[in-house]
Amino acid sequence: CGIVGYAGPNDTVEALLNGLRRLEYRGYDSAGIAVIDDTGGVAVRKKSGKLVNLEDLLTASPVSAAGTGIGHTRWATHGGPTDVNAHPHLGDGGRLAVIHNGIVENFSELRDDVIARGAELASETDTEVVAALLGLETAAGKDVETALRDVAKRLHGTFTLLAMHQNEPGKIVAARHHSPLVIGLGDGENFLGSDVAAFVASTRRAVVVNEDNIAIITPDSVRITDFAGTEVSFEEYEVEWDA
Ligand code: GLU
Repeated sequence: CGIVGYAGPNDTVEALLNGLRRLEYRGYDSAGIAVIDDTGGVAVRKKSGKLVNLEDLLTASPVSAAGTGIGHTRWATHGGPTDVNAHPHLGDGGRLAVIHNGIVENFSELRDDVIARGAELASETDTEVVAALLGLETAAGKDVETALRDVAKRLHGTFTLLAMHQNEPGKIVAARHHSPLVIGLGDGENFLGSDVAAFVASTRRAVVVNEDNIAIITPDSVRITDFAGTEVSFEEYEVEWDA
C-alpha cells in the first residue's frame, strides 16, 4: 500500500517512520520496516494494526541503524492482516528483505517453484514468494539488481517492489509494473516512495520512475534501467507541496 526507502547516513528508523506517517492517509492494516542495522545484518520489525503498534514494538525492541532501510504499510490481498503476513518479507536466509505494493497474479505457480527449490515460506502472502525467488537468485551469486531484473520479468500482476541485501549495504533496488514509484533526491541521502509524501519532509527534488523500470539508489547515486538492463535517462522536478 505505502512504500518508503532510505539510503543515507542519518537515523534510518526515524527516516522510515517519518515516511510511513505521511503515507498513513492511504489506509493500511499493518506496518513494518527492515534496516541494515549497526551489526551489518538485516533487522525486521513489523506489526499488524496502526503505526503506533510498530512504534511500540520499536520501543520494546529497539534497532539502531544509520544507513539503509525500507518501510511498508500493508493493505492485505493475499493472507490476512497478521504480524507474520506484514511486510517486509525475507529471503536468502534472512539476508535479503523485500516490500511490495500490488498483487502477484501468478504467485501460486511461483510458490510451487520456490518450494521445489528448497525455500521455506513463513507467511501466506504473494510477496514472500517474490522474496524467496530473489533470495534463491542472490544465494546463487547474483547481485540484487540483476536478481530483481530477472525476477520482475517472471511476475504477472502489479507491483512496486523494493529489495535490499546485507551483502550490498547502502543500496536499495526497486522495480515497478502498473504501480507507482518515485525517487527523492537528497544531499548525501536518497529516498524511494510510492508517492512523494514518503520523503517530502526531507527533499522536494523528485524523479518519477517510469513503467517497467528498475531504480537503484545509494546515498550518493541514482540509476534507472529497463528490465533488460539498459540505462534510462531521467529528469528531476520540484515537488509542490503545502505541508
Ligand atoms: N499483495 C501484498 C500482500 O497482500 C501487498 C499488498 C499491498 O499492496 O499492501 O501482502
